[in-house]
Amino acid sequence: MSSSDLFRRGEHVMTVCNACRYCEQYCPVFPAMEERLAFPKADLTYLANLCHNCGECLYACQYAPPHEFGINVPRTLAEIRLQSYEDYCWPRFVGAAFRHNSLTAGLALAAGFSVVLFAAAWAFNADALSQAAPAGDFYSVVPHAVMVTLFGLVFLFVLSALGISGVRFWRDVQGGPAQPLTFDAVRRAIRDALSLRHLHATGLDCTSAEEVRTPWRRWFHHCTFYGFTLCFASTSVAAVYHSVFGWQAPYAYTSLPVLLGTAGGAGLLVGPAGLLAVRRQRDAALGDPSQQGLDLSFIALLFVTSLTGLLLLALRDTRLMPTLLIVHLGAVLALFVTLPYGKFVHGIYRTAALVKYAIESRRGAR
Ligand code: SF4
Ligand code: SF4
Repeated sequence: MSSSDLFRRGEHVMTVCNACRYCEQYCPVFPAMEERLAFPKADLTYLANLCHNCGECLYACQYAPPHEFGINVPRTLAEIRLQSYEDYCWPRFVGAAFRHNSLTAGLALAAGFSVVLFAAAWAFNADALSQAAPAGDFYSVVPHAVMVTLFGLVFLFVLSALGISGVRFWRDVQGGPAQPLTFDAVRRAIRDALSLRHLHATGLDCTSAEEVRTPWRRWFHHCTFYGFTLCFASTSVAAVYHSVFGWQAPYAYTSLPVLLGTAGGAGLLVGPAGLLAVRRQRDAALGDPSQQGLDLSFIALLFVTSLTGLLLLALRDTRLMPTLLIVHLGAVLALFVTLPYGKFVHGIYRTAALVKYAIESRRGAR
């Protein structure tokens, strides 16, 4: 379906919902919709990124397929969300290319980065790869300068790409004079985003089929997000140890970077595996089948990153360390490079949409 057809269908769905309003108590999408009389692309994008795909409004809907109106709000908004990932990303052509071959591209990038790191390690110190175990000395395999340069460049690129796409999204969904940000709106949006408050629209848990509600989707999302955050914190603390205090890796099993990394790695194993299992059991009518590649790519890279990271920690004093280190760093780099083009941006756009919703609802209350 072309982008214009998609937004025309979104307009049709929201126009029917705006006349019906039966679902207005479920989530912020419906109150935000009621503030509007027409649904141009920017407003549909905003509403789509407010939706948490809890699924309630599909099973509540008297106009859902096979009714001739064919109203399926969760799927329509999921499709518009996917379009928003592609429309706002930078550079745009990368987003379009990645969307069509996400899983293959993600795994190929991980393999490609591993080959580059292997070549760098071979050129620097081939003995560290082929002879005695270097007893957890990561920098004897991949020099610190190579790691810092490669990760620094990738990090700068990812930050720029995410920043540009976030600004593009925010500018577009504003759709008029800039609305002043308030501390309270930002606080409420961050609270709702971090607690996944609207993933259980009825106050219970989100649906996986008609009248089937479980907490697992929410818990596995939490494991993934907080696991990622803890791993990031671990790397940041390790960077401070190295550059500020001159304390070099490997760090003790009881040190802060290792404790944070172990907890984060465990979360990143459980979360993505659980999300994959939940996804397989979920009613297919709730989702957008064309997002499968993006979802699987993100889940696979998170899983490989955490699995190789934990194995590296456990086996860092053995002969497997150099191989595990290279595969782990390759997976981390691939994960980072693909962040601006996949499901990760969903968290940024959703938080921005929640900020806009908090501003609008406060204005409405006044
Ligand atoms: S999803 Fe269906 S029941 Fe709910 S507001 Fe829209 S048209 Fe009405
Ligand atoms: S799927 Fe859930 S979050 Fe999305 S619009 Fe329907 S009720 Fe709201």
